[in-house]
Amino acid sequence: MNQMLNEAADEVVGGMIAYKDESWHCVAGGCTECSSGCKNCWVPLYRARMCGMGITTESERLAWQGSTGAVAIERMFDKLKTWTMKPRVIVVYFLGDLFHKCVSDALIIRVFKAMQDMPMHTFLVLSRRTSRMERFLLTHPELRASHIIIGASIEEQRYVDERMPNLLRIAELGYETWVSCEPLLGPLDFSNIPMIDVDGTQYHADALTGEQWYGESRRPGMKDATDIKLSWVVTGSETVPKGSKMVARRPNIAWFRQLRDACATSDTPFFLQHINPEKDCRLDGVMHRDMRGIRPEGWWATGNRK
Ligand code: SF4
Repeated sequence: MNQMLNEAADEVVGGMIAYKDESWHCVAGGCTECSSGCKNCWVPLYRARMCGMGITTESERLAWQGSTGAVAIERMFDKLKTWTMKPRVIVVYFLGDLFHKCVSDALIIRVFKAMQDMPMHTFLVLSRRTSRMERFLLTHPELRASHIIIGASIEEQRYVDERMPNLLRIAELGYETWVSCEPLLGPLDFSNIPMIDVDGTQYHADALTGEQWYGESRRPGMKDATDIKLSWVVTGSETVPKGSKMVARRPNIAWFRQLRDACATSDTPFFLQHINPEKDCRLDGVMHRDMRGIRPEGWWATGNRK
């Protein structure tokens, strides 16, 4: 059943993700649209397929319908303990949002503790609910681990301004961080993020270089030099499931070039999945598949990040 669950999920969403070795679908819960990127969400299709195949439990089916709070998918917690032979990049998880209000703090703590217990792997957590994610991680410092990488979905500039302050403060807690700019729906600029200090002072941050400064104009050195920056940027075009009635929104190639160039200038690892709904992977004839942000040198040999 575990294999069927993963295969059914990968058929709908997971197979699209070129940077992962595994998807760990450990939670069943209803999700709700909260972002322009949610318009063509694949997850309801997956849930319908899972329920149609009869490979969900009754409590999972109800949780996916939003009739109850989210529940743990127990067999996936068991499955994780069997991934002991080699280090893997594991996404957590793309069939909902771990920080949606339907997922209890207790269940999120359980997910983080399970990830902590498997330090040979790299876990990629991704959410659009960055406010709750920041509050949660601030309240639970004991859950931090260098192999758990915290990410935000960012599709348009308004979400840079809204979610990056949360993600940068999470980076201040000591986490490595990443962004998934997928589906890319507009040009993105990570170089001037409005932030507020603990004492209420406003300042600005460049999420790719780590520079921070007070006031309107960039004056590096006005605030302490920092390592508070993104470890990894992933981007890609929207795609839709084969045979569905959804219509993928086609991105402008210039948006990818802008991100690629900003990452190159700041030496931020950049991973491009595909540039159009037809899934062409090359930008100006070049594949960009930089995994340094999540697979540091030597990681494959030892599974150790530090
Ligand atoms: S947050 Fe993710 S799972 Fe939830 S509706 Fe949006 S795209 Fe779908």
